[in-house]
Amino acid sequence: MHELSIALNLIEIAETAAHNAGAARVETVYLKLGVFSGVVKEALFFAYDTATKGTLLEGSRLEIEDVPLVVYCPTCQQEVELPSIQQFQCPVCGTPAAEIRRGTELELTTMEIMSDETETA
Ligand SMILES: [Zn+2]
Repeated sequence: MHELSIALNLIEIAETAAHNAGAARVETVYLKLGVFSGVVKEALFFAYDTATKGTLLEGSRLEIEDVPLVVYCPTCQQEVELPSIQQFQCPVCGTPAAEIRRGTELELTTMEIMSDETETA
């Protein structure tokens, strides 16, 4: 499953960062996900829950921020947001969209962690 390998990769990055920050566990992981990234969110949530078992991220929440599909329109000479990934053309002038500027992201943006209080002294 595509989403499982993505989840495993995310967890690895997050766990390394959490370790480095001295975290006892991770509360929330924030992810930017482009609508054109090809990732099925439900599948990713499911894979995340399964794959975090036994890691610092077990029981943490995955917060996904949707990033809309934005292309550069050479006719309008500006970036335009596409209302749907089905219609791959500028919603203003109808020029076929060629250059994707945003919407393919899959990016861990930030995390909320709990530090281990028993360790401090
Ligand atoms: Zn246009």
